[in-house]
Amino acid sequence: MQYDIWKFIALLSVAAILGYSLGHTFLVMLLVALGIIVWQIFRLDTLYRWVEKPRDNPMPEVSGQLYLLYRSLNRKSNKSAKRKRQLTSFLSQFRKAVGALPDAIVLIDERGKIEWANANAKTVLGIRWPGDSAVKFSDLIRHPEVEAHIEAAGKLDAPVAQGVVVNSLSNNEQILNIKCVRYTEKLRMIVARDVSRLIQINQMQRDFVANVSHELKTPLTVLKGYVEILQGTEDVPQRFRKPLEQMRLQGERMQFIVNDLLYLAKLEDNATLKPSERVDVTHIVNTIVESVQPLIKQKRHKLELDIDYNLVISGAQTELHSAFSNLITNAINYTPDNGYIRVHWHANDGGAIFSVKDDGLGIAANHIERLTQRFYRVDTDRSRDGGGTGLGLAIVKHVLQRHGAELEILSELGAGSEFRCKFPQQLSLKDTQALTNAHASGGAQNQSGVVPKTLF
Ligand code: ADP
Repeated sequence: MQYDIWKFIALLSVAAILGYSLGHTFLVMLLVALGIIVWQIFRLDTLYRWVEKPRDNPMPEVSGQLYLLYRSLNRKSNKSAKRKRQLTSFLSQFRKAVGALPDAIVLIDERGKIEWANANAKTVLGIRWPGDSAVKFSDLIRHPEVEAHIEAAGKLDAPVAQGVVVNSLSNNEQILNIKCVRYTEKLRMIVARDVSRLIQINQMQRDFVANVSHELKTPLTVLKGYVEILQGTEDVPQRFRKPLEQMRLQGERMQFIVNDLLYLAKLEDNATLKPSERVDVTHIVNTIVESVQPLIKQKRHKLELDIDYNLVISGAQTELHSAFSNLITNAINYTPDNGYIRVHWHANDGGAIFSVKDDGLGIAANHIERLTQRFYRVDTDRSRDGGGTGLGLAIVKHVLQRHGAELEILSELGAGSEFRCKFPQQLSLKDTQALTNAHASGGAQNQSGVVPKTLF
């Protein structure tokens, strides 16, 4: 800056001296100043042309302030050209990678119109790019479940959903998993994957387990029957009594496992259930409590019931009986003697909750996620000793899934556990007829519809 000012002052001084010697000081100074302005305009024009097309116009030889400006602009221009090259290369790599994915990827805007799709969108969904650009996704894929899922994913605070599994409309043999996620304020990404093979393998695996279990059922019954006959025979030597009892117990255990496996296979055969029965949960709890009473007495547990007897649910009676029975039996088995168990059945704004809480062994956090897997046990010996098959919580999970309900497990090692079954609001209803049933099953109740705490 200073260099340019000094240069300007120097030129004006020379003009003043020259003008003075010629007798026209101001005129010469004015002419020189005008010359400087014209020169600067010319230099600015050169700068403008260079900024517009730096490649066509080499950087001019300049000095002073303008040189600094050229240098800074040149640096910025080089930087942004480099960044542009990097971004272009990244975008092209990204498109190639997305294009190579076996899944269909479709981007849609807030109105559901297609913004972009990869090459596999054609094979998996029949969507062509750019042919179907700006066409509504729902006009091409007409599926109410998919539409509802995409609609839900578009909401501001939408959680990342599981996606929906649907039959392909274009190919009867194909099963698709379609998942939609919102990734900017306006755009959503739909990922569709062909899961036909996976589902086929799962089905084969389920069929295999069901068939093996079914085949084992009869031989086991025969073996157990003969063992029991032998046990009832007087001339069996004393030394065989203990092995025979062991054989009977193991046979019984295998029968329990086979029955649970068959039951699980039945539940899995049809993942969703259309709840139709009016299920009186109070009645189920009373029946279960009656059947486990000898065990509760033997272990000297305290059992507390906190039940809203007016609350009934729409679902499958036998399945819910089996799920609740597994939870109550587990609480008894995994709580040391003189323990405390509380069974709770109430509704709140979110729906109905059935929960079983104990102050027993508790479960370390690292096991909790895997508890509902088949045969997953924290302590295998303890589970076997209590007659467990390792399938109870898997059954609970499947029964709840079929009712659109969720299982929540809260537990702390050494402090106890709580297993909560959360039913959707639409399944639960208040029913005064349940009052009669609660009376019939011997439960005392008060006017508010809540069975007072019953201690055993
Ligand atoms: P099991 O037949 O072994 O009881 P489940 O599927 O019912 O099989 O339970 C899986 C495992 O979860 C059990 O082996 C046990 O380790 C743990 N578990 C279940 N319920 C409880 C509970 N109330 N307290 C502590 N651990 C539990």
